[in-house]
Amino acid sequence: MRPTPRIAVLGSTNMDLVAYVAKAPDRGETVTGREFRTIPGGKGANQAIAAARAGGDVTMIGAVGADDFGVRLRGALGESGVDTGRLRTVEGASGTAHIVVDDEGGNAIVVVPGANATVTGLAPGDAEAIEATGTLLLQLEIPLDGVLTGARTARARGVRTILTPAPAQPLPAELLAATDLLVPNEHEAATLTGRTDPYEAAESLLEQVPELIITLGSAGSLYADRSGTRLTVPAPQVKAVDTTAAGDTFVGALAVALGEGRAMPDALAWASAAAALSVQRPGASASMPARAEIDAAVR
Ligand code: ADP
Repeated sequence: MRPTPRIAVLGSTNMDLVAYVAKAPDRGETVTGREFRTIPGGKGANQAIAAARAGGDVTMIGAVGADDFGVRLRGALGESGVDTGRLRTVEGASGTAHIVVDDEGGNAIVVVPGANATVTGLAPGDAEAIEATGTLLLQLEIPLDGVLTGARTARARGVRTILTPAPAQPLPAELLAATDLLVPNEHEAATLTGRTDPYEAAESLLEQVPELIITLGSAGSLYADRSGTRLTVPAPQVKAVDTTAAGDTFVGALAVALGEGRAMPDALAWASAAAALSVQRPGASASMPARAEIDAAVR
């Protein structure tokens, strides 16, 4: 038996409010939608759920609002086995993402950060909770001050930091300096470097982080580190029905595999299998595979 890896996630929780329509409305126009769903999401919560399903012992640090969405978001994390003892409930609304999906699969999204905007640093006890783990997962849906404080705290306490730089934006050098493993998708890598070729972007990013993975959708992923290792990892060929949170599933599973001490090529193959399983099913967190399914898929 491998030891169960302990993972902390410092990040966002959002309720996704999704309207499905034939065609999205233009400005000033009202259209009638076909269906409405509320789906727990947010990159932080998605990564936490992915890691817990993949077999990690996961603690979520962040905030929900004092509303019904907050109760549901906490419940969804708990159902997947994520520890929500460090998820604060703050006054006001939970984070929400207002999503219009049209019949061509295109979408338009408004994110209202709500409670996520209050996560500008760590609460008492959070640093100790991070120190008790081996890995801290970070994304950019909480204020940069919060992300930076988390990364510095983890770095000072010997905890590996894995940063998903999404939503795409230029980053302060000090955040990259506190990042051990950076995992952008192609678009985010281009935003950070100004280079659209992912291989060139990787070389440029290695000046700022020691190790990185650029995810390339159905084309797989690419790993590079400062000691000269370059790996290209194909994605399993599958029929994708919903690629929402593919990257979050990838990172959650990767954190578990690395936390178990597995070598990078093995961890990458396992994370790719997890992400490929998730894209074959609808939904974000609802589509994330359990450990046994991932194991079965890589055999
Ligand atoms: P994000 O969801 O952050 O935009 P990507 O689209 O790059 O990230 O996907 C992350 C990972 O998920 C990829 O590296 C790949 O392993 C897997 N993946 C994404 N789309 C597919 C697909 N159509 N088929 C198989 N695997 C996929």
